[in-house]
Amino acid sequence: MKKNIAIIGSGFSSLSASCYLAKEGHNVSIYEKNDFIGGRARQFKKDGFTFDMGPSWYWMPDIFEKFFSDFGKSPSNYYELEKLSPAYKVFFSDDQVVIEDHLDKICVEFERIEKGSAIKLRKFIKKAQRNYDIAINKMVYKPGISPIELVSSDTVLRVNEFFKSISKSIRKLFKNPKLIAVLEFPVLFLGAKPQQTPSFYSFMNFADFGLGTWHPKGGMHQVISAMQKLAKELGVVINANSSVSKIHVQNKKTTGITCNDAFISADIVLSGADYHHAETLLDNQYKQYSESYWSKKTFAPSSLLFYVGFNKKIEKVEHHNLFFDTNFENHVNTIYDKPQWPKSPLFYANFPSISDETMAPSGYETGFFLIPIAPDLEDTSELREKYFNILINRLEEKTGQSLKNNILFKESFCVNDFKSEYNSYKGNAYGMANTLSQTAFLRPKLKSSKVKNLFFTGQLTVPGPGVPPALISGKLASELIINTLR
Ligand SMILES: Cc1cc2nc3c(=O)[nH]c(=O)nc-3n(C[C@H](O)[C@H](O)[C@H](O)COP(=O)(O)OP(=O)(O)OC[C@H]3O[C@@H](n4cnc5c(N)ncnc54)[C@H](O)[C@@H]3O)c2cc1C
Repeated sequence: MKKNIAIIGSGFSSLSASCYLAKEGHNVSIYEKNDFIGGRARQFKKDGFTFDMGPSWYWMPDIFEKFFSDFGKSPSNYYELEKLSPAYKVFFSDDQVVIEDHLDKICVEFERIEKGSAIKLRKFIKKAQRNYDIAINKMVYKPGISPIELVSSDTVLRVNEFFKSISKSIRKLFKNPKLIAVLEFPVLFLGAKPQQTPSFYSFMNFADFGLGTWHPKGGMHQVISAMQKLAKELGVVINANSSVSKIHVQNKKTTGITCNDAFISADIVLSGADYHHAETLLDNQYKQYSESYWSKKTFAPSSLLFYVGFNKKIEKVEHHNLFFDTNFENHVNTIYDKPQWPKSPLFYANFPSISDETMAPSGYETGFFLIPIAPDLEDTSELREKYFNILINRLEEKTGQSLKNNILFKESFCVNDFKSEYNSYKGNAYGMANTLSQTAFLRPKLKSSKVKNLFFTGQLTVPGPGVPPALISGKLASELIINTLR
């Protein structure tokens, strides 16, 4: 029977869930507080420049294929995808490492840096590929209800990989600190430090070196536009400027939401807003997780972000660039161990107009910069300015060109914006980290244990942070809803 389903938020996870639920024939409406769709994957346009304000790395193309194929479509029905070559460049204090688009070429680069490392890399990536197959085919599409979901002959055989850190496994094989940093980088997407991330998550290294880095022409927001289009084709009603201030419960069952001060009746409520915030929309007796529960969790970093329009092309950089020219561990410790602004930050610089002329006016460059920082740090305009100067000086120095006088405009985004724009807990950027004690069935649940017909999706629940997991999270939540309604 057709049900009325209200979805809070319009990020990747909400859009994904909305498509599956509408395909089942339900009346699905999305309520988004902001005047734009896409949540953290929003777009910013100014004077002919286009910026992805959040995600910019398109990894795991198979997950996107899988999502669209569930609706008889393919990404190519909506956007043009290009494999980046090279995938990215890493700047170290004494060298630059270029990660090409094929393992053979990456092996040559590894061998240049550490003799004998190529053969070890091939072995490591072969194992990472097996882990990827297990993770994607047997683990991540599970709703995180019980530990039994994770038990299979494959995972039992690899149980030690869940209790050993990826950092240890990498260091056993490679000695050069640059190679170690390059191999530890992909698990940063999971939101925790490599010392806290199980070795099994080497599947992220296969995503990196095996599957490659892709770019949708026009930017990552094209994926949001594609999903929005698909959702509308399936009959989903998308309401922007629609802030939800209450989830109503009667007889332990949800009855609807208050949106812009009006009651909207719903048979099912699904929240794709940050989980912690969604629970604040409930009366206390219906909250599953206390403030002390959230405060003990390891959150993924927040970020200081800059969106910069340059009036010239920038040399000696690639589409994606990592500035690892300072001490990796010192910075990571300021995120997870002793939360504070880093003295000498690592940063990520993205110039999408290098490979996509649609992202900037001709002869100009679109620049996006990200410094990962601990959630809930003090955020002031003076601090933002201080770190912008550090970053632009380092960029000038490492690439040997002057840039400061070529800035047409710059905008920033940090902890305070994450809180006010997305109702993000402590201003986190990528949700709750995927550590061993915060994985699968140990994460906040997709289905409320206290309120019937109330569900959650997004980067604070299963499977975790990142765009591909958000697509999967929406699918998992919708499957639970569909099963509940049967
Ligand atoms: C700077 C940055 C860089 C990133 N880089 C990458 C990357 O390169 N690759 C990658 O795969 N992932 C990346 N990520 C992570 C990825 O973007 C996220 O994991 C994903 O977009 C989260 O989607 P979501 O649906 O869980 O949440 P969100 O996108 O946050 O959606 C939640 C929505 O709920 C809305 N909302 C909140 N409260 C209410 C309310 N009361 N009423 C109505 N609406 C409400 C919010 O406005 C928001 O639109 C990045 C994230 C950030 C922030």
